[in-house]
Amino acid sequence: MRPLDEARRDVLAAMEANPVVRVSLRQSLGLVLGEDVVAGHDLPPFPNSSMDGYAVRAADVAETPVDLTVVDDLRAGYESGAEVRPGTAIQIMTGAPVPAGADAIVPVEQVEHGSGTVRILEGVAPGRFVRAAGGDVAGGTTVVSAGDRLSPAHLGVLAALGVTEVPVRRRPVVAFMSTGDEVVPPETKDLAPGKIRDANRPLLSGLLAELGAESIDLGIVPDDAAALRSALSDGADRADVVVTTGGVSMGTHDLVKQVLAEQGTVDFWKVAMQPAKPFAFGWVGKTPLFGLPGNPVSSMVAFEQFLRPALLTMMGSAAILRPRVRGTSSEDLSTDPAKTVFVRARSEYGDGRWVATPSKRQQSNMLSAVANGNCFIVVPEGIGDVASGREVELEMFQWPATRMAP
Ligand code: AMP
Ligand code: MG
Repeated sequence: MRPLDEARRDVLAAMEANPVVRVSLRQSLGLVLGEDVVAGHDLPPFPNSSMDGYAVRAADVAETPVDLTVVDDLRAGYESGAEVRPGTAIQIMTGAPVPAGADAIVPVEQVEHGSGTVRILEGVAPGRFVRAAGGDVAGGTTVVSAGDRLSPAHLGVLAALGVTEVPVRRRPVVAFMSTGDEVVPPETKDLAPGKIRDANRPLLSGLLAELGAESIDLGIVPDDAAALRSALSDGADRADVVVTTGGVSMGTHDLVKQVLAEQGTVDFWKVAMQPAKPFAFGWVGKTPLFGLPGNPVSSMVAFEQFLRPALLTMMGSAAILRPRVRGTSSEDLSTDPAKTVFVRARSEYGDGRWVATPSKRQQSNMLSAVANGNCFIVVPEGIGDVASGREVELEMFQWPATRMAP
């Protein structure tokens, strides 16, 4: 058996980053910048008020109370034609440009409005409540770096800078198929004896969508060599990556293994992990192929450990692994010390610590345990038994939402 880290290193070393393309900012959520984006101008673009109040000369309000003559009333979105000369003030709203002559804002809470005048009750230091031009982003500096995955906040700040197109790595196109004579489409109403509905394609298409990859669904391929051959070459022609599920273990009808071996250069690995020990990686022509196990939990774990970081590498991401937190298991765990074990669990954060409750359903066909969980308790190779309360790493595939009190 190959240790997980070593197998993953080999897979990742074979991945190349996709070429950089320009896409519209609107379509770039989740994609990874291929080049730094430099701000074309300052943000904020001009000095403006962070409070509703009065634009003043700080020197005029050094001693209070003091009365100033109000020479204009300025709303956000407009410039004042007037200037703040000694002894005067301009009423100003949040976001309005700081008028010429003024160097500070006195908030409304610190004044008494008069008629044509304002009484300043409490002074302010120079620069107070003024948002400096470039205080958020200075023009000419890098605002988002190559390797960063674009989030909603990135989209907001780039839009504010007038960026309408971004240089990102092209989305990987992933062709995937389920295999097996027993597998029928999820839409099947009545199951014939011995048949099961396909869980893997909906699972994979969801994981791919979450990642921002483009998917090509090649359907369910029966345990038939000719059908497999044609699905594989179809996938390899149309996609950057081909993914199969099922047929890579030891059964006599595990044809994927045979067909792959003839059609490409594929290594079959027993990876020292549980679930998802049988795993195939190789090439159909120039297209990388990932042969995931058939059991849905194994399929997902293999996706998480191999395919997700591989696709993120193609996308150019600097960060490719799921976040982990330190926590404890609520139950004693007894796992195979020869493998890295991913225990299906649900974690919660409270009193400053994470506690994970392992599911009672740990077999690799039991996808409901993952569906109702949010993390894997990772028990590294060489450990085996873990007492409840001992520190473990939790690999979060979903963050628990905090519910508001009713
Ligand atoms: P295999 O690796 O083909 O021997 O499959 C291992 C187990 O996973 C068997 O019990 C299969 O019936 C099951 N399985 C394979 N493909 C799927 C699928 N797409 N959805 C649900 N279960 C599957
Ligand atoms: Mg099968």
